[in-house]
Amino acid sequence: MYLDNAGATPMSPEAEAAMKPFFARVFGNPSSLHVQGRKAKQALESFRKSAAHLISALPEEVVFTAGGTESCNLAILGAAQALEKKKAHFITTAIEHPAVLEPFLKLEKLGHVVTYLKPDKEGFISAAQAGRAIRPDTVLVSVMYANNEIGSIQPIAEIGSLLYKVNMQRQKQGLRKIYFYTDACQAGMLDLSVKNLGVDLMTVNGGKMRGPKQSGLLYVKNGTRLLPQTLGGGQERGLRSGTENVAAAAGFAKAFEQVQAKRQVVCKNVASLRNQLGKLLIQKIPGLVLNGPGLDSPFRLPNNLNFTVPKVEGESLLIYLDAAGISVSTGSACSTNSSKPSHVLKAIGLSEDLIRNNIRITLGVNTKWQDVEYVSRTMPELVKKIQKVRNDL
Ligand SMILES: *Cc1c(COP(=O)(O)O)cnc(C)c1O
Repeated sequence: MYLDNAGATPMSPEAEAAMKPFFARVFGNPSSLHVQGRKAKQALESFRKSAAHLISALPEEVVFTAGGTESCNLAILGAAQALEKKKAHFITTAIEHPAVLEPFLKLEKLGHVVTYLKPDKEGFISAAQAGRAIRPDTVLVSVMYANNEIGSIQPIAEIGSLLYKVNMQRQKQGLRKIYFYTDACQAGMLDLSVKNLGVDLMTVNGGKMRGPKQSGLLYVKNGTRLLPQTLGGGQERGLRSGTENVAAAAGFAKAFEQVQAKRQVVCKNVASLRNQLGKLLIQKIPGLVLNGPGLDSPFRLPNNLNFTVPKVEGESLLIYLDAAGISVSTGSACSTNSSKPSHVLKAIGLSEDLIRNNIRITLGVNTKWQDVEYVSRTMPELVKKIQKVRNDL
């Protein structure tokens, strides 16, 4: 029973099939002028067109990358390096993924100033809060669309329209435009129209939406100045050199199309199963606390559950669950250093002990009622067992 879909998703059979022709049959280098090259180029551009359509962007605004981390780095470091000034101000949140936080830490080391917005106890950042943090020297606001640990969905469109107004004023004052970036790696099931969101930069991640790992895109709105982080042959409009991975683009475009086509129905079905599982677990495990937004909140990812389990270390529970055939995660699986307490749970006000008692369950499109039934039966028993062992010590 795979319930760690925020960590990785199984590839859809259609995405897998879409990739196949581009390994040995249509293998040409898209930059080559001969027939094999032209075929690869034509295919690549068709995938770019379909991905662009899904986010209401122009094909030329889509930069294919090797996934979430690379896109985040390109957006943040690329925007910073394109500045004339050596010291500028950036705004982000305390609950971003390391792929965003680490580039900002690097910018701080280089002398830039970064404001980390603190979420409320459910994990939300407000547009007003972002507005209050703006300074004359602010150059970029970076707010993740949906959090990978607790599933809180941020008001990206609201922040986008606030920044639009702020930028109108700044233009009159002769101040530089503030770019708006969102890491939408966990938001495949949500509205990703860049027009609705008002973003200049956005990361979409194939590996988190049933496409291949290390696939995805960075949306770069026309006119947005970025410096490349990978130098070479000048592919992807000079922003991402290296022979294009046409197979990855094929799998990504197909998976993205699938998740967006059925997103409303899938969201509803997954949320319904998630709510049943959440309610059963809360009913059966005394003292179990849900972290993040409430189950009835429309601003919680439909597949996400995150719990503090009383007197049970998340890692112990994970191992017991694994032995019972249930795969879940604790804190953040995105980090290899799993002993580091979650910065997200810390930011929403949990104490160190409670952070360790954490378990994350993320459903997928393949999750069935039988899975919910089995987990809601098995997990309470295992929790009791671990608590008893602990008490006997
Ligand atoms: C997974 C993830 C990333 C990093 O993506 P990779 O596929 O590991 O490169 C970045 N941000 C968020 C929110 C994520 O969930």
